[in-house]
Amino acid sequence: MKEKTIEKSAVVDFLSDLLETGQVFAPVEREGIVNFELLHTGEEARIDFGNSLRPPKELFFPCSETLFAFEHGETTAKSSSDEPRVIFGIRPCDAAGLRILDEVFLADDSQDPSYAGRRERSVLVGLGCDQPARSCFCTSLGGGPFAAEGLDLLFTDLGEKYLVEAISQRGEDLVTDRGCFEDASHEDIELKREIATRAEQSVSGPSVQGVKQKLDGMFDDPFWDELHLKCLECGICTYLCPTCHCFDIVDEGTSDNGQRVRVWDSCQFSLFTLHTSGHNPRLSGKQRMRQRVMHKFKYFVDNFGEVACVGCGRCVRECPVNLDIRAVVDAIRLS
Ligand code: SF4
Ligand code: SF4
Repeated sequence: MKEKTIEKSAVVDFLSDLLETGQVFAPVEREGIVNFELLHTGEEARIDFGNSLRPPKELFFPCSETLFAFEHGETTAKSSSDEPRVIFGIRPCDAAGLRILDEVFLADDSQDPSYAGRRERSVLVGLGCDQPARSCFCTSLGGGPFAAEGLDLLFTDLGEKYLVEAISQRGEDLVTDRGCFEDASHEDIELKREIATRAEQSVSGPSVQGVKQKLDGMFDDPFWDELHLKCLECGICTYLCPTCHCFDIVDEGTSDNGQRVRVWDSCQFSLFTLHTSGHNPRLSGKQRMRQRVMHKFKYFVDNFGEVACVGCGRCVRECPVNLDIRAVVDAIRLS
């Protein structure tokens, strides 16, 4: 598809049109905080923002999800929607985060049907980051403020309008035959290139080259003795991370009547590895912090060939004690 443009004033109508045929999720502002929500009208979307506080991973892997209910010894399957969905305004780092989750939840031998269903029926409309935050370091992880991998459409803010690029057939289908889109001019495309180059150049961060190899020999290193000391074990860094995917399974109700629920969990919580016997193999904060770093930069690389961090910067921005993962990576690399 040739690149298109859409006037900013027409985006509300575009979103309202999409709502006629399925669900639309987009960033919505509530009391100054932006998160992805199911839209009821196009006006609710807030797309001139930095990035959402919470990544849109919860639209695919909810923080609490009923797997099935049981009553008098019989299980009842949970109802699931098959409505098509558009996720509008997702940033390239968060789309890259979904690719990491795919490795876990779409594995051939252990595919998660709920996650797979949501992925299958979702079209991802990305929004390039023309003003990356100082805490962003996506370029260190092979991404970029305008990286299109994993997206279906990519929007770029050109001022009064957006440039729209189709990345997949599904993205192209979303735009085709809609009167609100016009063919982009050569100047529009050139302006997008300039904006993307400027944004890319403004992002910096640590190199992850050689970090996995360093970690291979660091399990018992004194490096871990102090790193965790200021950590409050609040779990914010894992809950806000677009790639973290640990969960717990709990049964609610009575043995006769209730439901089995999957809930997010965090390797930073002491209960995370507590066995029913009372034994806890990760008793100390040192062990838990080592696990978080090792999982992202060594174990995930061992298992899937890539680092489980996309450089979104959320854990850097939101950690209450400023425990900066970029500095940790740098210290490991230079150790
Ligand atoms: S956000 Fe900071 S304080 Fe909270 S668990 Fe993570 S590293 Fe520790
Ligand atoms: S580890 Fe931090 S910077 Fe990396 S993807 Fe997770 S929240 Fe973002």
